Amino acid sequence: MAKYVVMTGGVVSGIGKGITAASLGALLKSRGYKVTLQKFDPYFNVDSSHLSPYQHGEIYVTDDGAETDLVIGHYERFINGNLDGRSDITSGRIYRTVIDNEREGKYDGSTVQIVPHITDEIRNQLLKFDDDTIVIVDVGGTVGDIECTPFLEAFKQLNVLAGENNVAYVHVSYVPFIEMSGEQKTKPTQHSVKELQNVGIQPDVIVCRSDYPLELGSKKKMAAFCNVYPDCIIENLTNDRILEIPLRLEAAGFASAVLRKLKLEDREADLSEWKEVVRRAYSVKKTKQARIAIIGKYVEMHDAYISLYESLKYAAIDMQLTFKLDWLSSDKLTKKEIAELGKYDGIILPAGFGERGFAGTVGVAEYARKNDLPCLMIGLGAQAGLIEFARDVAGVKHAGSAEFGEKDFPVVCAGKEFKKGSHRTLLTKGSALADIYGGEEIAMRHRHRYEMNPAYMGELEKCGLLVSGRSEAGYIDAYELPTSKFHIGVAFHPEFNSKVGHPDKLIQAFLTAAAKPITDGE
Ligand code: GLN
Repeated sequence: MAKYVVMTGGVVSGIGKGITAASLGALLKSRGYKVTLQKFDPYFNVDSSHLSPYQHGEIYVTDDGAETDLVIGHYERFINGNLDGRSDITSGRIYRTVIDNEREGKYDGSTVQIVPHITDEIRNQLLKFDDDTIVIVDVGGTVGDIECTPFLEAFKQLNVLAGENNVAYVHVSYVPFIEMSGEQKTKPTQHSVKELQNVGIQPDVIVCRSDYPLELGSKKKMAAFCNVYPDCIIENLTNDRILEIPLRLEAAGFASAVLRKLKLEDREADLSEWKEVVRRAYSVKKTKQARIAIIGKYVEMHDAYISLYESLKYAAIDMQLTFKLDWLSSDKLTKKEIAELGKYDGIILPAGFGERGFAGTVGVAEYARKNDLPCLMIGLGAQAGLIEFARDVAGVKHAGSAEFGEKDFPVVCAGKEFKKGSHRTLLTKGSALADIYGGEEIAMRHRHRYEMNPAYMGELEKCGLLVSGRSEAGYIDAYELPTSKFHIGVAFHPEFNSKVGHPDKLIQAFLTAAAKPITDGE
């Protein structure tokens, strides 16, 4: 039987429950345990595929093609492993399954109810992993929210159904400090634990997010009032150095407390790789820097590109350089702003859907090519770069994308399917891309309905473009300009391929091409 760590949130949202869950994953994995994570979100969208990036940020794609909440990206990066659609559950998915079951007559004519049908279906999601796995269950929302009640009800019974030694309940709470009176306040945590106890869950561990170190008195009070062992009150100090959080939680005894409850051996954690990443990130003096602009259509919402940001961060840490990032809206770019892009060392044109901002992206790709400004183009960005090349270099003025109605010269055409998840790309020998990834074949994650059209590549290659990657179906997955310092377009998402300590090589190559020595005074 698998073991479960059920993590609930209390007092307020936005106190880093996702990162706390991901950190626990990293700490358990560092002890040699097999770990997976599951997010249970209370909303009724069946998955993230129809969600606007302005709502919950990026839609993260796993190997199996599931379109998930961005927190799955944090989990994968922290546990340095690949998850799949089993990790992202929503109320919508649960209710849909139950309603489908009812229509198929699977409930033998009984009245279908939240308890037991919805709660059973919630628990069914937990059973999809191997026996020797520790499943970290991250319950979305805050205890007391009407929406997460069915989840809590389902997980309450887990204690009985799976056996006491197989479940640990972790409550992630907030301990505020009142500046005026100079006091740390534990009452909100006490109340939120009471709320949890009301639904029948007694937490075993309480992780306290706090802006100041937890006072001994606060710890004692929470242990007493919440009925928890004093060493199971874990401090989680506010820290904008996200990568330090697992190390701090380790020092606070978080993983050990969880393992004690699960009656599992508390093996020694091997965090040497993680410590090295932290050392490089925060202690090593950087000698190079890159000013990067991400030019896309959802830039007002930085979370819409969170994996891109994180992958740049990990690449920069690995190469001991710093980068400064500006976010420019492709929608509002003026000609003047495009002409001023020379102040950056590199440009990223990220993925996107729909025509808004596309013309601006085409203009940026043209500027980058003509000024030999390192430019990484992803998904829609790559399609814009290809169209720009066809129009300006090959002279086909009306070259365009079928996504926006182009019929005569669709250098981007409708694909056979909406391509999602991990697929193979065959790299062209001698191309920069093959050199970067060090092989002739890669498997990367995709999410696009349209494809870069092989029918026109002969013409474009005559004009100096190099097709550097093809899909198994023969579509163009990647191209580059051999005469440029770095002008590479890819249909896939390199940003979903970065883990802590293991940055994606293409992102790394882009930053290397862009970086310049830091001069005195900077
Ligand atoms: N909208 C484009 C397509 O569907 C690009 C998607 C993307 O950027 N991944 O093909």
